[in-house]
Amino acid sequence: MKTYQSRFRPEIDALAGYQPGEQPRMTNLIKLNTNENPYPPSPRVAEALRDFDSAALRRYSDPDSTALRTAIAERWGVGPERVIAGNGSDDILTMVFRGFTAPDRPFACPDPTYSLYPVLAAMQGAPVIRVPLERPGFTLPADFADRVQGANLVALARPNAPTGNTFPIAAMRDLCERFAGAVLIDEAYADFADDDCAALLAEYPNLIISRTFSKSYSLAGMRLGYAVSSPAIITGLFKLTDSYNLDAVTQAAGLAAYQDQAYLRENVRRIRAERERVAAALAELGFEVNPSAANFLCAAPPDRNGEAYFRYLRNAAVIVRYFPGAVTGAYVRITIGQPADMDRLLELTRIYLATLP
Ligand code: PMP
Repeated sequence: MKTYQSRFRPEIDALAGYQPGEQPRMTNLIKLNTNENPYPPSPRVAEALRDFDSAALRRYSDPDSTALRTAIAERWGVGPERVIAGNGSDDILTMVFRGFTAPDRPFACPDPTYSLYPVLAAMQGAPVIRVPLERPGFTLPADFADRVQGANLVALARPNAPTGNTFPIAAMRDLCERFAGAVLIDEAYADFADDDCAALLAEYPNLIISRTFSKSYSLAGMRLGYAVSSPAIITGLFKLTDSYNLDAVTQAAGLAAYQDQAYLRENVRRIRAERERVAAALAELGFEVNPSAANFLCAAPPDRNGEAYFRYLRNAAVIVRYFPGAVTGAYVRITIGQPADMDRLLELTRIYLATLP
């Protein structure tokens, strides 16, 4: 056999690749590791799937996701030329990084943040500027906008992952105002927060806001996300999409989910209430619980050994997420599940704490 010699770009050979949270196939497991929604999607999704004419799959899907983008644009109070849809918001992020980062166009982000960002930058061979968040609270340093100067793209998750906290809107405004490049505010978790950055879109053509259907709409398995920005940026991103990036089934089911805002609100209300209950219970047990505006909690056990706590829970069939590292290693990230699942987590946690010296 001919010897294989890599012809990948060197940055691809050097790349470790993104590590998604594990998706175990075992049953009887409490899965709190990838921020999925513990409740099913709107019943209108089931209806849309039932009514979908499979014969229509013969044809390609609408490459512009017109009906879905029009519905999204209407709710956001903008024209559809300011909206693009993607195969999950990860697809949106891919387009943004393809378009704005390169070896001579650095990328900047807070640290810690969504671990996919540096991977996407590395694929482009783009340098990464990491600005450490300040503790306690994982807050944005006051000079963040100064420290990212020189980058061509800055991305922030707001609320942030894996820390859960949000950042002041005034800081986002300051960044959009002073930063010459593109600003991506990843609002994957914004439906669980008290506010969002939508109002800034009217003022800042360099702002891109991305959203997902994976969390608040309970559609992680469907893969649907979108971005709202200025017409100029959306036009550019459209050049970077995979052709027919959204299949016809996703476009129909996503539209049905989006039209059921009452269901969304009720779903979010339950998860927020549970988040507050579990945060208070963990704090009572001596955990450091970072303030959360998302559907998960970032919490450090009293001995600050996130890994040991993670392993203990895992052995008891409760899976949370652990991010190794000097800062993140003290914590675990716990997705908010249904109350009975969270009760089980709290029960195990009490037993675990009793075993600590
Ligand atoms: N942004 C953030 C901050 C996330 O945590 C996630 C989920 N891993 C995503 C984007 C991507 O979500 P999806 O591709 O499912 O829309």
